[in-house]
Amino acid sequence: MIAMPAPLITIAEARELVTAAAGPLGVEPVAIAEARDRVLAADVEAMGNVPPFPCSAMDGYAVTAGPADRTLRIAGESRAGAPTGQQLGEGEAIRISTGGAIPAGATAVIPQENVEVVNGSIVTRAAVGEGEHVRHSGEDMRAGTTVLRTGTLLGAGELGAAVSAGAAELIVARRPRVQVLSTGDELRAPGEPLGPGEIHNSNGPMLVALSEHHGAVCPPAGRLPDDRAATEAGLENALENADVVIVTGGVSVGPHDHVKPALAHLGVEQVFWRVALQPGKPTWFGRRGSVLVFGLPGNPVSAVVTFGLFVRPALAALQGRAPDRSLDPEAVLATAVRRNPDREQAMRVRLERENGRLVATPNGPQASHIVTSLLGADALALVPAGEGELEAGATVALEPLPR
Ligand code: AMP
Ligand code: MG
Repeated sequence: MIAMPAPLITIAEARELVTAAAGPLGVEPVAIAEARDRVLAADVEAMGNVPPFPCSAMDGYAVTAGPADRTLRIAGESRAGAPTGQQLGEGEAIRISTGGAIPAGATAVIPQENVEVVNGSIVTRAAVGEGEHVRHSGEDMRAGTTVLRTGTLLGAGELGAAVSAGAAELIVARRPRVQVLSTGDELRAPGEPLGPGEIHNSNGPMLVALSEHHGAVCPPAGRLPDDRAATEAGLENALENADVVIVTGGVSVGPHDHVKPALAHLGVEQVFWRVALQPGKPTWFGRRGSVLVFGLPGNPVSAVVTFGLFVRPALAALQGRAPDRSLDPEAVLATAVRRNPDREQAMRVRLERENGRLVATPNGPQASHIVTSLLGADALALVPAGEGELEAGATVALEPLPR
């Protein structure tokens, strides 16, 4: 029996199917020190005002607002962490450091460079207005307001804000467990001497790096020979222990491509196979229960491109991550590009800003085995399917090149 090839679906359709299948994983509490690069799974509210008390923005003297040329007696000191209990009296100044609490009765801070100290008093050399150099309580955060929202990726700034808000631990999405498997009798581990017909397994380490960068925990990557029984055993083990299985190679129609029949036999339901995409046409996606399975093409560039277009959004959805807004949505082509009549092309491009426009230049040869086309590339540019060439200056959509 000759199986009819499945029709090609578009990148957008494939991505929709992937994200629809990727429901959020559970959540867990983590200490702030462990929370970097995790995705927040519960809003963070300020437990109190930040700053908690009115304090000085300068090293100087807490005073009442007033004109220049006043002589004020230095009556005490309010340092950061050591507030004074004193009330500021008529004709007085209290020495204050940055972050020191504003003493009762003071309404402004005069910086030390604007005063002269004479016999235990200051003479103001400038006028100082009401509230000048005073940081107000709650100016940064008001008690009870939401400071960080669910779905936020936690970087240094977010962690700082969470700590200021009073948090010691955060509720974050559980990290997806991603098992990477590479198929191919020709594959050797990094650095291993190569026999005839052999190549180094570059996909394994790349896909682990990409997955970890996008929040996953990866057990050691595995390699599967081009053998039906071994492929099935390796996949079953991965399916039992992972949230996501990424298997590369063996998803085309060659006689040694065992991945699809093995997955079918293991009860992994196919959601799609083959996308109108270059490189990346043989991409396969399916699921068994909540476990997602990606069969990515063996060529390293195809593996990276399809990771970016399909696996990356799945990992984001599993962690409930809000969409990225860092990338410009489109650019114009620097040079004409030959189109593929049937498939959208994901070109590796360098981006430059010229006269306010973002210009995309193909980053060297684009064949799917040219790993060096990833080096120095800034993004993927999507060239729509069609006849002939897409002319220089035409607008192309951009996708992040996964890192
Ligand atoms: P396949 O999809 O198995 O037909 O593989 C397509 C091409 O990608 C072949 O040239 C393979 O040798 C190559 N390839 C497959 N897997 C890897 C890998 N893990 N690392 C580098 N190249 C690979
Ligand atoms: Mg192969």
